[in-house]
Amino acid sequence: MLERGEVANTWRRERWDSLRLLTPNWLSRLPGHAYEGTDPDGFMTVPEVVELISGYAASSSAPVRTHTTVTSLGRVDTGYRMVTDGGEIRCSTVVLATGAGNVARVPQVREAVPARVESVSALEYRNPDRLPPGGVLVVGAAATGVQLAEEIHRSGRRVMLSVGEHVRLPRTYRGRDVLWWMEASGVWNQRYDEIDDLERARRLPSPQLVGTPEHATLDLNVLAAAGIEVVGRLAAIRDGRALFSGGLANQFALADLKMERLLDTFDEWARSTALGLDVAPPERFEPTRAPAVPRLSLDLRSGEIRSIVWATGFRPDYRWLDVPVVDRRGELRHDGGVVVDAPGMYAIGLPVLRRRKSTFIHGAGDDARDLIAHLASYLAG
Ligand SMILES: Cc1cc2nc3c(=O)[nH]c(=O)nc-3n(C[C@H](O)[C@H](O)[C@H](O)COP(=O)(O)OP(=O)(O)OC[C@H]3O[C@@H](n4cnc5c(N)ncnc54)[C@H](O)[C@@H]3O)c2cc1C
Repeated sequence: MLERGEVANTWRRERWDSLRLLTPNWLSRLPGHAYEGTDPDGFMTVPEVVELISGYAASSSAPVRTHTTVTSLGRVDTGYRMVTDGGEIRCSTVVLATGAGNVARVPQVREAVPARVESVSALEYRNPDRLPPGGVLVVGAAATGVQLAEEIHRSGRRVMLSVGEHVRLPRTYRGRDVLWWMEASGVWNQRYDEIDDLERARRLPSPQLVGTPEHATLDLNVLAAAGIEVVGRLAAIRDGRALFSGGLANQFALADLKMERLLDTFDEWARSTALGLDVAPPERFEPTRAPAVPRLSLDLRSGEIRSIVWATGFRPDYRWLDVPVVDRRGELRHDGGVVVDAPGMYAIGLPVLRRRKSTFIHGAGDDARDLIAHLASYLAG
């Protein structure tokens, strides 16, 4: 196992200071490891995640070679040739476990941001104090965007949040954590080959969720009530003016509808299960309130906004791959983690790789088991 940094590198280097997992402790399972602390319903801080993963690496005696960067990977007759900053390695099979979010996915409009407004990606963001003084525009309202908008606003700044397609979820539903429902109802375990529109499922933004000791819901109603100005999708920046889409009410209605459908699925499962569940009655939530007159533009030269935080997602970086397995959009061509046209090459940790839960810590175990079975039979010929 080659790692360019240290074990749990992304958690040591690429997360903001206040981040906690949005998955509860009881869910942070790895094969042969289950949470045994005193707060199963709590949410780990970043140092706790580092401890979890480092402890797992130590207890499983994983043969990790740290501070070894793979700079290129190419095909040879017998398999693959890997060049690293610590020498060359040949192997008959290879698993790409380099992560789903090596670089921030920032839209091209960034290039038109006036020079006096600082751009910060979610991978660079650490805390509000590191931003220049003044107002902040957060672009993107998935888990990262809503969490950063809330934190920056709480620090006393003026915050505007630009919202495109998003996934709304309550933190708690019928008295249980919403991720308990995802897990128990089987939604999270749904396999990639059972999903109608897999490409779309793989592109879905992360849900608007935050892990706090209070188990608080962090949706757009909460943010707007706190004083954050919610605006539409950032469509363009022209002559220093940011132009926002006017379709906010539609976006809200769509996200509300999808949330209701998911809650219906949970209710249906609860009715049909023979487990005699100890849960509260079904609930429904107030629709997302659209601003009466949504703002459609903002003069970025006016000084109102001094920085833009791009919370527009992440993507993998495959520039080091010298095998033609990446498509025009920079995405790995794979079938459930079995890389296409590259016998013996596998990938893990990508969105909906084999199951809806594939990019989460607890999703790695099942995917790994499936892929190892494939890899073993490949090696056996
Ligand atoms: C902001 C954020 C919040 C998240 N919150 C949660 C959460 O609450 N719960 C949850 O379950 N999941 C969460 N995730 C997803 C989480 O990242 C994954 O569950 C988990 O970290 C994926 O592990 P991984 O090993 O697949 O990828 P990564 O953690 O990305 O690890 C990939 C490793 O590969 C190394 N690497 C990359 N390229 C090379 C190279 N060329 N040579 C050598 N080494 C290389 C990197 O240094 C890194 O250590 C979150 C992700 C983000 C970005």
